[in-house]
This record gives sequence, structure tokens and C-alpha cells, in this order.
Amino acid sequence: MAGLKCSNCGGSIRYHDTPSGIQYTVFTAKSWENITQAIYDPKNERMHNEWKIPEPYRYLSCTIWEDFPKEFREVWVCPHCGTIAVFDNSGVRVKAVYAPTTDIFSVDRHAEKYVVFSDYVWEEIAELSIPVSEISNKFNVTYYAIANEDYIWLFKLGYESDYDKVYKRISVAKE
Ligand SMILES: [Zn+2]
Repeated sequence: MAGLKCSNCGGSIRYHDTPSGIQYTVFTAKSWENITQAIYDPKNERMHNEWKIPEPYRYLSCTIWEDFPKEFREVWVCPHCGTIAVFDNSGVRVKAVYAPTTDIFSVDRHAEKYVVFSDYVWEEIAELSIPVSEISNKFNVTYYAIANEDYIWLFKLGYESDYDKVYKRISVAKE
């Protein structure tokens, strides 16, 4: 997916794998915790055995995308109006669109919690071969998010702080 028309403002959104503040990588907080606590990677053991490299057989930051393919979603943010397009698991089809709103909606504290990484941060993580357990020491998440079917709340400092931005789901015309 390299281009998309924003369903809110009609502007074009382009992304070519170069960090530009367009693409964000999103995990549920629960998944992210599981991933960063994962230690033993059987695939690395096979690789190390072939290359005669000693232990440890850790899950590495550079292979999260292939080790945990179902655990993350990609979203794009329109550079013109800030609307969020959430891709489905295939990364090809837009599943939901949320537009920024200045209305005030109280946070749905029971909704799913997420961690969000900007493309700048995610590229750095994905280029390093560090054990997944060390990621949290070296990188901060870009945003914390709480989302339900209708709204997304973004937080800079944590789920308990005041939210930074709120988005409302908009209906999308069929293509
Ligand atoms: Zn837009």
C-alpha cells in the first residue's frame, strides 16, 4: 500500500517506507507486553545452529514483523487533516477511519488499550537486532491510545493522564 485518498478531506496520502510521520504501528497494550516478555525463539535456535553462533536464542526487535505478524496493525495519518485510517490485518484494506474532533468525549476506560509507534521510532526499532525485552529501555512509545468502535483517545504520557487528542469514527463510502 503506497497511496490512499483520505476519506475525510479527499487529500492524497502517500507512504513509501521512508519515515515521514504517516505510518504508525499499533499493538494492543496486552500484546506488546507479551511480545516484550517473549524470550525463547525456536527459529533463532535453528539459525544459530546453522551459523554455529552461541545462545541466547532471543526474539529480536528486527524480526517482530515476522515473528508476531498478527499482533500489530498499521495506521496512516492524513498529513492534510490528521484523519486516521486503520488498515485490516492484511495491511491492504482500510478497516476504519477516525477523524479528529474538538468535541469532548470522556474516555471509555473499559475499552482496549494500545501502544503506538511512529514510523520514525518503529524504523529504529526494526533496524536494531536487540532482544525484544530491551526495547522498552531504549525507546518510548509515541502515543498511548484507548479506542472503542466509535472513538480513539491519544495520550502522550500514559492512560491515566489527560488525553491529548480525540478522534471520532466517520462512515466511509464504499469504493
Ligand atoms: Zn485528510
